[in-house]
Amino acid sequence: MPKVTIDGIEIEVPEGTTILNAARMIGGKIVPPAMCYYSKLKTTGGYCRTCLVKVVQGSAKDPRPMPKLMVSCSTTVQDGMVVQNITSPEVMEARRGVVEFLLINHPLDCPICDQAGECKLQDLGYEHGLEKTRYEYKRRTFEMEDIGDKIKLHMNRCILCYRCVKVAEQLTDKRVHGVMNRGDVAEISTYIHNAIDNDFSGNMIDVCPVGALTDKTFRFKSRVWYTKPMDAHRDCKKCCGKVVLWMKDQEVLRVSARMDQNNEAIEWICNECRFEKKKLEDWVVEKPTHIERQSVISQNHYEKLEQLKLGKFTDHKMIDKPEPKLRP
Ligand code: SF4
Repeated sequence: MPKVTIDGIEIEVPEGTTILNAARMIGGKIVPPAMCYYSKLKTTGGYCRTCLVKVVQGSAKDPRPMPKLMVSCSTTVQDGMVVQNITSPEVMEARRGVVEFLLINHPLDCPICDQAGECKLQDLGYEHGLEKTRYEYKRRTFEMEDIGDKIKLHMNRCILCYRCVKVAEQLTDKRVHGVMNRGDVAEISTYIHNAIDNDFSGNMIDVCPVGALTDKTFRFKSRVWYTKPMDAHRDCKKCCGKVVLWMKDQEVLRVSARMDQNNEAIEWICNECRFEKKKLEDWVVEKPTHIERQSVISQNHYEKLEQLKLGKFTDHKMIDKPEPKLRP
């Protein structure tokens, strides 16, 4: 198995592993960000350039460095390869440039965007963004579009990562949307404003790295960090039925797929679970969802406390915990 060193950490990986996935196996801060690559979808990656890294040694056999920065999501590891990510000032400079490009048209409307707190571009903007834009031309603007009765497309925010198109291609039986036109006029749209209506179309919302595709049943209901995410499941004939319930008190405001540490859906969920099952009694609540500490969603999210509070829910299927008895 080839060995690769990323930011001074060596790891042995299976043949064919990309630099990005090798970094994910190491974990932590050395993992390059990825806006378009999605490990559960084929042919993703290579669009956004946020995962650029520097290959300072190509392999043990041919130790010459690679002449340009490489996209880590589609560059395969060679035995003896040495890679720099956060340890390379050149990579950091390039990443700042990529973020500046992504923000040329993307509005800074985080205060009113439903994706705020869960948006990778917001995180990148904080980390690498400039205080003001150097762009002098008019930003691209589009009318908001309803694509189906449950999904809102806010094209102004789209960064053309193609993830939603891959979901439609690979998860649904009839793709009715895609990227229209090319270059500066490229946009995500449906063919003649078709509705996206398929059992698994809601997964586009989860894969969208920004707030371009949002859940109409949740829009403007709450800032995400005021909700309590809980792992829950139900018997579902169409999907795994394992979800996260985003709750305010005992009200279920949103249902989404469970995410792994790379913010990718662990398993796809169907539209029935996502949009139709909004009552607590539809679900068996398991435990508070584990949130990585660096996420803003972790604000107000005290997992141990919420685990204890879970015992108070009595009106849905869950193992009841007795109320603590006061001393006489
Ligand atoms: S709508 Fe979202 S998922 Fe689709 S291409 Fe745009 S940013 Fe990517």
